Amino acid sequence: NPLEKARYLGSAHTPAQLPPDGGFEVAFAGRSNAGKSSALNALTRQNALARVSKTPGRTQQLVYFEVAPERYLVDLPGYGYAKVPMDLKAHWERFLDNWFRTREALRGLVVVMDIRHPLKDYDRQMIDYAVARGLPAHALLTKADKLGRGQQAQAVAAVRRELAAAGAGGVGVQAFSSENKQGVDEARAVVNGWLEL
Ligand code: GDP
Repeated sequence: NPLEKARYLGSAHTPAQLPPDGGFEVAFAGRSNAGKSSALNALTRQNALARVSKTPGRTQQLVYFEVAPERYLVDLPGYGYAKVPMDLKAHWERFLDNWFRTREALRGLVVVMDIRHPLKDYDRQMIDYAVARGLPAHALLTKADKLGRGQQAQAVAAVRRELAAAGAGGVGVQAFSSENKQGVDEARAVVNGWLEL
C-alpha cells in the first residue's frame, strides 16, 4: 500500500506556500466531524497522520501529505468551524476557491460524508465544483459500521440516485468504515489510481 508512506509535508494558507503545481494531488473534503481525519488515517494506516490538520490555526490551511515524490494527499479544512474575521475569511475563501478551480496537479476529490447524513449543502457544493471542472470525485460514506448491511446498501443507492439526478452520476459512491476498515481497500485503489501509484 503506497499510501502508508504518507508523511506531513506542510500547510498552505497562501499560494506562495504551495508546492510547485506539477505533481499529482488528491483532495479530501468533508464537513467537520464527518470522519475525514479517521478516513485519512485508515487509508494511510497511520494512527495520527491527520491530527496535524486539527491543530488550532490549521482550519484555514491546505494540509499536504507527501506519499511519494510529487504525489500528495491534500486535506481541505473541515467545513463548520467557528467564525473568523470577515477579511481573513474572504482571503481564505478566495485562495481555496482559486486552488480548487485551477490547480492542475489536482487529479481527484474524495468527499467524506457520514453515511447517516450524506449530501449536505457543503458536500454538494464540493461535488458540483469537481463536476464543473471535469475532475473525478469519489464519495466515502463513512461510519458504515453504525448501520446494518441492508441499510448501508440503501444509503449507497440513495446517494447514487441523488447524484445522478444532479448530473453527477459519474461520481463513485461506497460505504466505508475507519472503525472496522470496511471499504478501505476499495478507496485506496481509487486514490492510488488517481495518483498513478
Ligand atoms: P473529522 O472532523 O471529519 O476529521 O472527523 P474525525 O475523523 O475526527 O471523526 C469524528 C468522530 O467520528 C470521532 O469521534 C471519530 O472517532 C468518529 N468516527 C470517525 N470515523 C468513524 C467510523 O468509521 N466509525 C465510527 N463508529 N466512528 C467514526
